[in-house]
Amino acid sequence: MQKNDVFEIEITDIGVNGEGIGKIGGYTVFVKDAVIGDVIEAKLMKAKKNYGYARLMKILCPSPDRVDAVCPMARKCGGCQIQEMSYEKQLAFKEKKVRGNLIRIGGVSKELLNHIMEPIVGMEESAFLGAPFYYRNKAQFPIGEDKEGNPVAGFYAGRTHSIIPNTNCVLGVEVNERVLNLILDFMKEYKIKPYHETAHEGIIRHVLIRYGFRTKEIMVCLVVNGDRLPHSDVLAGRLAEIEGMTSVMLNVNKNRTNVILGDKVKLIWGKDHITDYIGDVKYQISPLSFYQVNPVQTEKLYRLAVEYAGVAGREGKCAEMAAERPIVWDLYCGIGTISLFLAKEGCQVYGVEVVPRAIEDARNNAKINGLGNAEFFVGKAEEVLPAYYEEYGRKHSGKGAHADVIVVDPPRKGCEEALLKTMVDMEPERIVYVSCDSATLSRDVKYLRERGYELEKVRAVDQFPHTVHVETIVLIQKKTS
Ligand code: SAH
Repeated sequence: MQKNDVFEIEITDIGVNGEGIGKIGGYTVFVKDAVIGDVIEAKLMKAKKNYGYARLMKILCPSPDRVDAVCPMARKCGGCQIQEMSYEKQLAFKEKKVRGNLIRIGGVSKELLNHIMEPIVGMEESAFLGAPFYYRNKAQFPIGEDKEGNPVAGFYAGRTHSIIPNTNCVLGVEVNERVLNLILDFMKEYKIKPYHETAHEGIIRHVLIRYGFRTKEIMVCLVVNGDRLPHSDVLAGRLAEIEGMTSVMLNVNKNRTNVILGDKVKLIWGKDHITDYIGDVKYQISPLSFYQVNPVQTEKLYRLAVEYAGVAGREGKCAEMAAERPIVWDLYCGIGTISLFLAKEGCQVYGVEVVPRAIEDARNNAKINGLGNAEFFVGKAEEVLPAYYEEYGRKHSGKGAHADVIVVDPPRKGCEEALLKTMVDMEPERIVYVSCDSATLSRDVKYLRERGYELEKVRAVDQFPHTVHVETIVLIQKKTS
């Protein structure tokens, strides 16, 4: 096979990034936007010895699992990788990915998985679109200029930094479009320039919009290259007309960087935060807070975390008997989202998180929910927990600190061994591991299974329909010897 060869190929598999895979003889071809079951005409763009990357030229016979993309920009944008696959197949693909990693990397047997793996938690489909859309509560649009010099909002094309205009992303909420158009009109009228990266000139870099699904509160935050935005009072007045507008803010980012947000925020109108709920827990969200982007699926995930932790329904019962509260550590706790869910159930919760601002939010969230049984520490989980364990041992003549449950929700790289070791030393009955990367989760599951723990439950949760990402939650339990 050579570059520029055009050929017919049947797609028989799907890669980890959602691309279609087909074979010609022993040669493997990866085709973006092709779906398993498609017969297509493809053109080889990059040829390696045993495999190559091809472009989808024409669909000769569409797969029964192929659906029309709702967004006309789906292929160009890259934010959604599998919008042209039926939602049912998306779910099957994600479940298979988690299962495959647990078998290959985690060394878990198929028999055990058949026994304990629960069906993936999908999202309800929107009645008129046939799949879940409009689920994200946060959107960040880069602002640029078209050839005529008009301001545009959209997304970066492929791996470039040129902006393709699109104010109507179907993963985000519908009000985004109105907010963006209002800002673009304002920019034109008052001749406010978008930021230009290479020249490091211009003012508006990004627009960040957050929406509280339960409260319907909206926050607009303009990321600006400067300390102020000219005529911001006019803009704020116009934005305030939109129903639900609660907060208009500026984020100052004068750095030559592709990091979206700077450290400083300024209030222009309304409150400096919006409020939202997941389940019964209330959260205050500011422009810099980390907050789960799909609140509907997040609630399902956190309910599972409570269920797997085995602490449900202790509320009230334990309120007067503080000594009997189960002790739960929530590591990588962010703004305390899972911690507060567990605290609501009456647990004594200790949260650990490396970002100091997130811990400030966590403490504040505990306060506004009236939860005195959650305490938070700033630091790396792999440092805070081992240090706590050692210190406890020193104070209690060698007796180790105990936890009933340890919850971890690490970033993609998973947990460090020093942390896993301390977790095992603390002998919790249950470990609940939440992860956005089932490969590192599987690696850590293997470590724990070799040290007296067994996998009891596994479930994938689809937090990000139309993308290849999938969240996994597992329960790992101490073996009774
Ligand atoms: N459980 C939270 C956040 C999970 S995201 C929620 O559901 O909302 C992972 C979090 O881990 C991020 O907030 C990140 O800042 C934090 N983090 C990354 N490395 C860490 C480390 N070594 N120790 C503690 N926290 C860490």
